[in-house]
Amino acid sequence: MVRVSVGYGLSLVCMSAIPGAWRRTAAGAGLLSPDGAVAPTIFAEMSAAALRTGAINLGQGFPDEDGPAEVLEAAREAISHGMNQYPPGRGFADLLEAISEHQRRFYGLEVDPRTEVIVTAGATEALTATLLALIDSPDDEVVVFEPYYDSYAAAVALAGARLRTVPLRLPDFQPDLEVLAASVTDRTRIILVNDPHNPTGVVFSPDVKAEIIRLADRHDAVIVTDEVYEHLTFTAPHVPIATLPGAADRTLTISSGGKTFSATGWKIGWIHGPADLITAVLTVKQYLTYVNGSAFQPAIALGLRLPDSFFTDAAAALARKHEILAAGLRDAGFEVIAPQGGYFTVADASNLGGVDAAAFCRALPERAGVVAIPLDAFVSAERRGDYSGLVRFAACKRVDVLEEAARRLAAAQF
Ligand SMILES: *Cc1c(COP(=O)(O)O)cnc(C)c1O
Repeated sequence: MVRVSVGYGLSLVCMSAIPGAWRRTAAGAGLLSPDGAVAPTIFAEMSAAALRTGAINLGQGFPDEDGPAEVLEAAREAISHGMNQYPPGRGFADLLEAISEHQRRFYGLEVDPRTEVIVTAGATEALTATLLALIDSPDDEVVVFEPYYDSYAAAVALAGARLRTVPLRLPDFQPDLEVLAASVTDRTRIILVNDPHNPTGVVFSPDVKAEIIRLADRHDAVIVTDEVYEHLTFTAPHVPIATLPGAADRTLTISSGGKTFSATGWKIGWIHGPADLITAVLTVKQYLTYVNGSAFQPAIALGLRLPDSFFTDAAAALARKHEILAAGLRDAGFEVIAPQGGYFTVADASNLGGVDAAAFCRALPERAGVVAIPLDAFVSAERRGDYSGLVRFAACKRVDVLEEAARRLAAAQF
């Protein structure tokens, strides 16, 4: 038996005598250590360092305070009222209705709650089920922007497809349109777009979104979006690709209540799009988890119907947290790349002797009492060199925690 680490400390146990197609693909995608044994992820290593040294953990992206009280109360109520058995395979009708209302209210999108949307075990299951449903052959390619959320490469490998990455680089982390165009071909089955983007904090420009739609149309690819940070934008309201001309017929839109309602452990996500594509995703999803989180579904439905002020306040509160963190980083001598959305701030530690960002992050807990993750943890092996000096800090923590982290960073000797 071999333990195979595919990210975030998640590991799969495989019979080493039966490599399996996915194992070969995973090895090709750089997800396995050379001996196929446990490769401790940087996340696990850094969390252990935080515990050992008492450092503030700004490595992992989950909030350290609860979301809206009425949302939490709705889940408690649901448990008390017996909502403890399997919900329907597509999700409770009321949540499907609430998602449809939400898409109309914020974006003017019309989503039929009976045929065009399903509830999933977080955005993660929506994405994995989509890849498993739409990938036909090992020659199919999935175009992904890099750096990428760490489940992407693993899910593409599980689906047995080939990963094609388009780099996001400084100064602004927007992709080069020519590189993008060259990466999408008739072999491209899916263009996967995380917007607002983790880990860079970028929001893709209108030109980039238009080019993604043009290329998908020309090469008959499906656009799959990951919009889990849709309500946590700082410069302009979120624009889903599905709202743009020519996109709706070939776009699957994925989101989740985890980030919006500070309930990452609840794993209530959803996916909507054309009914035939949603049916394909449902056929896989029903044998992955079938259903999940029955008592959390009515709570997320309530959350999605909260007044506009909840959503604008949540974005404003997170923007302020980013500013507290950024001030500490600048005082310490980092160059801060201001995020346009999401939980994370990227900073350049090159001026502080941090060109080797992984080594810099390994030393940071002892030196500054803070834990962060090198950006190259989110890129494929061949491209690590392109992200030297760049470090990701989570800003989704309590204000007092961020103030203390900022003090520690500013006081550290680099
Ligand atoms: C947190 C996160 C997810 C996971 O969402 P879940 O609903 O918890 O599965 C997916 N994509 C990105 C970019 C994330 O940051």
